[in-house]
Amino acid sequence: SGKFFVGGNWKCNGTKDSISKLVADLNSAKLEPDVDVVVAPPFVYIDQVKNSITDRIEVSAQNSWVSKGGAFTGEISVEQLKDHGVKWVILGHSERRHIIGEKDEFIGKKAAYALTEGLGVIACIGELLEEREAGKTFDVCFQQLKAYADAVPSWDNIVIAYEPVWAIGTGKVASPEQAQEVHAAIRDWLQKNVSAEVAPKTRIIYGGSVNGGNSFELAKKEDIDGFLVGGASLKGPEFATIINSVT
Ligand code: 13P
Repeated sequence: SGKFFVGGNWKCNGTKDSISKLVADLNSAKLEPDVDVVVAPPFVYIDQVKNSITDRIEVSAQNSWVSKGGAFTGEISVEQLKDHGVKWVILGHSERRHIIGEKDEFIGKKAAYALTEGLGVIACIGELLEEREAGKTFDVCFQQLKAYADAVPSWDNIVIAYEPVWAIGTGKVASPEQAQEVHAAIRDWLQKNVSAEVAPKTRIIYGGSVNGGNSFELAKKEDIDGFLVGGASLKGPEFATIINSVT
């Protein structure tokens, strides 16, 4: 439900040269009109991308500071992102949760601050393999969702990205049925815990080893409203194929 949404999370990849080529490929790609497309370069390349990419594609950050800027060494503020024309920020990505140690409450606060300042938030959630194997997938996802719900002022500008950690960068994509099952549960959770208005209109996108070969089958599922793409978003033509898998 809602307009199909495809984000490219470039993570900590790229050089001025490789990004210049990727942007050129995206600028010349034929993209289905009825899809929101967003790319998230590393901070240091945001200016380069913003100054060279087509207006058809919005720019996202991969993180933002939890409050107004100031004495926070190494951080980037929401105000600075907006100063560069950034419209979105990815928050709660599993790499920041599990490698860097960000916690639910902190992520919720970041989401609330970014939304209040007018950025859209791509709010990531997802379970580890051991959590799935222990039958805790829904519990983990709902706990992460609740941390957002407890903090945010509104759901108008949030896209939920379900990214099972075992599928990220592993080549082991969730099956369309596995993804649909969790997406439907997330929507049901929103219905019960947020509101009957928010549940149907919130985009729930899937991430984890999405590529040009599996996106079409995933996109057919009722509650899969788009994708958050890592590795395959670094290849312009393949990212375009994924964008164009809108049904
Ligand atoms: P991959 O597409 O490389 O598995 O990464 C997914 C992801 O983490 C997007 O945020």
